[in-house]
Amino acid sequence: MSNLSINSKCIKCGSCLSLGYDFLKEDREGAIEVKEGTFLENDSVELKSIMEICPLGAFEYDKSVRIESNKEQLEKVKEKLKNWKGIAHITAENIPFDENKYQMNMPYDSGSSYTYSSDNAALKAAEDKFYNIAYSKIDAFILQVISQYRGEMLLPYYTYEADTNSVYYKENLKIKEMLSQAEKLSKKDLCSGFSDFDVNPSSDSTYKMLKKGELVGDNLVDSVHREFSSGSYSGLSSYRMYFDYDETERYAGKGLFGGDKYVSKYCYRSLYEAITELEKDLRSALKYRKDQIQNHAVEVVNALIDTYNKKAMEELNRKLDVL
Ligand code: SF4
Repeated sequence: MSNLSINSKCIKCGSCLSLGYDFLKEDREGAIEVKEGTFLENDSVELKSIMEICPLGAFEYDKSVRIESNKEQLEKVKEKLKNWKGIAHITAENIPFDENKYQMNMPYDSGSSYTYSSDNAALKAAEDKFYNIAYSKIDAFILQVISQYRGEMLLPYYTYEADTNSVYYKENLKIKEMLSQAEKLSKKDLCSGFSDFDVNPSSDSTYKMLKKGELVGDNLVDSVHREFSSGSYSGLSSYRMYFDYDETERYAGKGLFGGDKYVSKYCYRSLYEAITELEKDLRSALKYRKDQIQNHAVEVVNALIDTYNKKAMEELNRKLDVL
């Protein structure tokens, strides 16, 4: 918007251009234009000169157009910076936990060979194997899921780069833009890099630990484990129903009277069913502790946001002081 314009009376005589004002320009066809954003005071020399020089009275001056002065614009930007409230806290809705979304690296066991002398021995071996490879590792499976959830959902709150969708990166950009505007509007000779704004809550290494599951906290894993244990069919013995055995006859040499002798040998079958059932039960426990998992994450994220806001506010105030 400008408070000066040229109407259709203009005959492109070029007289006004001879005044050398940079707010007037000529296009390829020789038409004269007033540059966008031109604001002339009604008692200015420039306005008086162009009105006088134009033989056709083609210039129009609009007193009602109000264009803010640099100073006014600067004050507005400063006001915005002063009123900066910081990044808002998050809630559980921002980082929803879905217990089925994350990988649980359950083991696989295809069953044993026919080495056991009874069905009971085979089933006992199945139970021992199930315990060793899966049931005794319940905490690790829980930790795996919570760590993946945190690694994915909390990434923007723990990192600073554009490609991680960092909330701090985005906020820094917004502030940087305002500082840049202020720098342009200010007549002061500000130091180089005045508009740079690169604040973060220094949580990068923390994020790496978090991704590895080092910061999930024993309490949270314990809580999910307790939820799992509270189920009626979560004891080790409850998984026996998913174990199965098979029997075969094996040649065992000659008998007392010279005939062939055979003995029964047993194996246990694949533990797939039991392991799948355990995974299902663990996911169910995670689902029941969803609120706690989310709230725990919300707490740590909001603490980081508070750190960022405090540091950013201090940096901002330092910049406002010199504006
Ligand atoms: S002096 Fe008037 S008529 Fe001539 S170019 Fe300028 S605006 Fe157009």
